[in-house]
Amino acid sequence: MNWDSFAQWGARFADWGAEYHKTIRARPVRARVKPGDIAAQLPAKPPETGEPMEQIFADFEAIIMPGMTHHQHPGFFAYFPTNATPPSILAEYLIANLSAQCMIWQTAPAANELETVVLDWLRQALGLPEEFQGVVQGSASEATLVAALTMRERALGWTGNSTGLSTRERLRVYTTLEVHSSIDRAMWVSGIGQDNLVRIPTQGPLRSMDTDRLRDAIEQDIAAGYRPAGIIACVGGTSTGAVDQIADVVAVAREFDLYVHVDAAWAGNAMLCPEFRTLWTGVEGADSVVFNPQKWMGGQFDGSMHFVRTPEELNNTLSIEPEYLKTHGKEGFRNYSEWSISLGRRFRALKYWFLIRAYGLEEFRNRIRNHVIWSGEVCEAIRRMDGFEIVTEPVLSLFTFRCPGDDMMQQHLVDAINDDGRIYITQGLHKGRKMIRFQVGQFDATREDVLAAAGVINDVWKALK
Ligand code: PLP
Repeated sequence: MNWDSFAQWGARFADWGAEYHKTIRARPVRARVKPGDIAAQLPAKPPETGEPMEQIFADFEAIIMPGMTHHQHPGFFAYFPTNATPPSILAEYLIANLSAQCMIWQTAPAANELETVVLDWLRQALGLPEEFQGVVQGSASEATLVAALTMRERALGWTGNSTGLSTRERLRVYTTLEVHSSIDRAMWVSGIGQDNLVRIPTQGPLRSMDTDRLRDAIEQDIAAGYRPAGIIACVGGTSTGAVDQIADVVAVAREFDLYVHVDAAWAGNAMLCPEFRTLWTGVEGADSVVFNPQKWMGGQFDGSMHFVRTPEELNNTLSIEPEYLKTHGKEGFRNYSEWSISLGRRFRALKYWFLIRAYGLEEFRNRIRNHVIWSGEVCEAIRRMDGFEIVTEPVLSLFTFRCPGDDMMQQHLVDAINDDGRIYITQGLHKGRKMIRFQVGQFDATREDVLAAAGVINDVWKALK
């Protein structure tokens, strides 16, 4: 392919993308394929000579598209969305064209400085204090791993990287059962270990960490010779939207000099709206906070906004400077690869710059507020359905419910709804019982799209009974 045909194909892909988004409601949300269906249509061996783009694109439409679940579909109420908005998709195209390696300032000065500015815009937009500084990580899992490594190194006097952990005191990290599995993984990868992740019971309507029990657990661990390193709190847990009381968590952390990381991967987006910020009161006392703009702001997947109060602690944990990465004689900038796990970094900041400028903060707020209201309306419609119960009340736009019947019936209903194809939802567990999870956040969903979900659930339930 030469650059002239590249331009023609680029225009064709742009048309395809616009048409895809405009007609997406006509597609079933979830792919209607069985495991192996797609692979069976693909040659087992790579081609020895190049194939025409026309053929590759035809196969994309014929083989790949039927195997895709449509995350941009307004009937997507499963997991959390991975939204993609036109300005951020277009910026991704520019990012792909430049294919910049943004590891240090001098390999991409504009990318580096734009990252600083855009993250500071977002810091202000979320109402975080001035001392917080941000970095774009690849995912919330990566941000949490960075936080786990930082708490590990901080607790070990910044010597764990050199000594390894085998001869060191056992570290402890405190969290609840409501947090995402990326917290477990961070414990595995950081070498702290699953057994040293202490689960503190939760309490209250928001399933918040019981901070009296937290304090007890820390004191018992110290008495038993462990070394507490940090606390991982959540604001908007994945399963039911659980919210830890950050001010209380931070107060206990201060008593024992512990590092606090707040996983707000989804709910952090809602903090663009000042009225929702009571959900993370006290966040200014945390050391590290993460949120994912694709989950609610329409920032093209992937990327995570990671804010830290003391970036030097990230540097102490992750900075490594072989001679070839030294930027001799150039001072006064950040090398973001020293704040992250990977050396190589994409130019993700560009898409957030396009996104924020194209919509303006008020537009995000409007959409988030609408989603919260419409989700509440669906919740009330389900509450009125005969025999249905609301298991957890809405936290922002996430609530959970049960239909009449046992756990198996909940799964039957979820499967039947997803096979129907008009909407996509998922199941979860709450207090050992299966429940059905409903979350609104697809960027372009209208009130009609969202309220239609209650009708779909009712139709499918009646057909199933
Ligand atoms: N934290 C929470 C609360 C989540 O809901 C998720 C994913 O949905 C994650 C972390 C992991 O996010 P990522 O895929 O960016 O690692």
